[in-house]
Amino acid sequence: MRPHPNVTLDGAQSRTGTRFWIFPQPPFIPGYEQPDRVWLSILPDEIGSGPSDTLMYVVDPLYDKQPYGSSRLPPFGGARRPAVQPGPDRHYDCLDPMSRPYLGVHAYGCIHFVLDIWQSYLGRPIRWFFDAALPRLEIVPFVDWDNAQAGYGFLELGCSRAGGSPRPYALNFDAIAHELGHLIILSEMGIPVGVSRESDFFPFSEGFSDCVSLISFLYFDSAIDRLLRRTRGNLLLFNELNRFAETSPESQIRLATNFRRMSEVTREPHDRALPFVGAVFDSIIDLYHRNLVANGCAAPRLLNVDLRELTLDEFDWFRELTAESFVAKPLFFRLSLMAARDQIGRALGAVLKDLHPATLTFNQAARAIVNAAEGAAAERLEENFAWREISGSRRP
Ligand SMILES: [Zn+2]
Repeated sequence: MRPHPNVTLDGAQSRTGTRFWIFPQPPFIPGYEQPDRVWLSILPDEIGSGPSDTLMYVVDPLYDKQPYGSSRLPPFGGARRPAVQPGPDRHYDCLDPMSRPYLGVHAYGCIHFVLDIWQSYLGRPIRWFFDAALPRLEIVPFVDWDNAQAGYGFLELGCSRAGGSPRPYALNFDAIAHELGHLIILSEMGIPVGVSRESDFFPFSEGFSDCVSLISFLYFDSAIDRLLRRTRGNLLLFNELNRFAETSPESQIRLATNFRRMSEVTREPHDRALPFVGAVFDSIIDLYHRNLVANGCAAPRLLNVDLRELTLDEFDWFRELTAESFVAKPLFFRLSLMAARDQIGRALGAVLKDLHPATLTFNQAARAIVNAAEGAAAERLEENFAWREISGSRRP
């Protein structure tokens, strides 16, 4: 059998968005070798060569460019590789997703994918914090540097050598989403002027950006599907959600499934962010369980135990039970997780504009998130922020 080719050149399809390939996790992660075909809300007519549009553009330097820094800022003025063109149907999913030119297309696609999600949570379009001086974000898909960074007018991606072979961050959705998270925070909250190094603003930015990455990852149908099938619906098991910005299957840079409380972390921003990320992750899982129970897929007892203190016997009992109902009703597991994701994502997105970099504390951010959340989400967030010693509990 031969599948039908994409022959639509115009008409209704070109008015519904543009198709790209995106790898939900880097393609060297087992199980993620194939990219997902996604529809971005931007229309083919709105994308120029590069790709580029009114918000951003890709620049791929011909030689090894130095990373941007305080004395080096965009726009890049040197020699560059040819701008990538879409396929004849003006979509980008007929290009080879593993080719060198696709690096920039992949980064561009990831940024739009994440923006589509977070602009929905924020309820309005993002205006870059640098747009008075630089109207568009410059995306540099490859810099010979083992890092990824976003700053004033740019998002640039290096290359990890972990594992022996070069692994470009341009194929790493987590890393791109995290960096874009920083740009979203600055664009919504403003630039931290005169903020001390000890301020909670910097660890908050790290934690929030990890949450942007985590929640955005849960928008890939294939990722949710793989995650649930692999764990048979039991997300207490080790899974994709707690591997952030992964550079090889063995190395984990940050962990969302951690048990750290504020009294147990240092002032180093990534370390100090851990309780916040942990509380958000726990809240998604708690709501997922609550939704499973509501859908008749798990025993109500699941809601009355402290999951951090489960005994092995209890854990096995829950695992067996969820595995059984996962076979019978997989769709409800999917819906339960998607609903949990959005309950938390909406609350996170709602608070940024009301937080101020100069005075921000984790306690204040947590209060605002709880106040922005609804019903069970507010209750779970409040409980988890309190357990992490980020904020006090209202209850005695
Ligand atoms: Zn960061």
